[in-house]
Amino acid sequence: MLRNRTTLSQFLLEEARRHESSTGEFNALILDVALACKAIMRQVSYGALAGLHGAAGQTNVQGEQQQKLDVVANELFLHATEWGGHVAGMVSEELDEPYRIPAAYPKGTYLLLFDPLDGSSNIDVNVSVGSVFSILRAPTPGQDARLEDFLQPGTEQVAAGYAIYGPTTMLVLTVGRGVHGFTLDQTVGEFFLTHPDMTVPPAATEFAINHSNRRFWEPAVRRYVDECLEGRTGPRGKDFNMRWVAALVAEAHRILTRGGVFLYPRDSKDPSKPGRLRLLYEANPVAFIIEQAGGRASTGRGRVLEVTPTDIHQRVPFVFGARDEVERIEAYHAERYDDDNLDLPLYATRGLFRDAN
Ligand code: MN
Ligand code: MN
Repeated sequence: MLRNRTTLSQFLLEEARRHESSTGEFNALILDVALACKAIMRQVSYGALAGLHGAAGQTNVQGEQQQKLDVVANELFLHATEWGGHVAGMVSEELDEPYRIPAAYPKGTYLLLFDPLDGSSNIDVNVSVGSVFSILRAPTPGQDARLEDFLQPGTEQVAAGYAIYGPTTMLVLTVGRGVHGFTLDQTVGEFFLTHPDMTVPPAATEFAINHSNRRFWEPAVRRYVDECLEGRTGPRGKDFNMRWVAALVAEAHRILTRGGVFLYPRDSKDPSKPGRLRLLYEANPVAFIIEQAGGRASTGRGRVLEVTPTDIHQRVPFVFGARDEVERIEAYHAERYDDDNLDLPLYATRGLFRDAN
C-alpha cells in the first residue's frame, strides 16, 4: 500500500528537494494545517453524537450566526498551528482581530489566514463542508504580526488550500506549482496523493449562482445567466446545467473536478456589502488554486489576486472557473448598459417575446 502511494509529507519533502525555496519550516506549517483539518473532520463526522449541532448562540464579526462547530473548528485551527514557531500571526473568519501568537511560542516567518469551517450552515443538513486557508510571508519574521501585515494582495500568497469533508475527506493544495489533491485514509490517518496536477476542464456546461438574487444583479450578470438559460437555441448554442451547494469549498471542488463557473457577483441587495465572499481567506486562496489549475478568478472587473485589501474581513464579488467563461463574464461587465438597474432594452424586448410564446 505504501509502495505505490505518496503521503502529504513525502510530497512536501520531494517538492522541497526540487525547489530550494521551500523550507522545512514551510512544510511543518502545512502538516500542522493538515492536522487541524483531520481534527475538524473528526468533529464534523461525529455530528450530533458530539453534541455539536446547532447554533452557538452568538454572532461573529461578519454578523453571521456562529454554529457550535464554527467555534470548535476555529480553536482546532489555532491550536494545531500556534505552537510550532512557523507563524507570526493569524486571521480567522471567526475572530474580529488578528490572532496574536501566545507569548510562550516563537514567532515564525508566515501568516496564516483561514475560514476554519466553510459552509457551516450545511452541517445540520449533512451536506459537505470544508476549511480554506491562505499562507503569506510575514513582513517582519520573528515578531508579532500587525494588522496591516495581512493586507497583501493574493499574488503574494506562497500557498493556499482547502479541505473538503464530504463522502471522503480531501486536502487540495497549491504551493505555486500546480494543484494537487490528497485523500485522507482514515485508518492510517494520512493524506495520500490521489489527484496530482488537477486542472479546470476548459469547456463549461455548468454554472452556479444563487438565482434568487436575480433582481439585485447587475445587467452583465443577468445577461450571462439569461444566455446560459436559453440553451441550445440561444446565443451560446448549447445547454447548461445549474448547480448551487451554497458552500464555497464544495463549489470550488466541483469546478476543479468537473468544470464550470461559479458566480457570487456584486449585487445591490445590501450596499454595505459589495460581494459576499471574504477576500483574504475565501476568494484569494480559491483564486490561487483555480489559476494554478488553469482557470480564471475575477471580481467581474479584474483579477481577484490583484485586489489590494483594505480590511482583513473585506468582501469581494467573486467569479471563477473555466477561463473562457470568466473572460466572457468580464467582457460583459466591461460593456456599457443604459441603466445599471435594468437589463439591456434588447433583452427586455426578447424577454417579452419569449413570454408571449
Ligand atoms: Mn466560508
Ligand atoms: Mn466559516
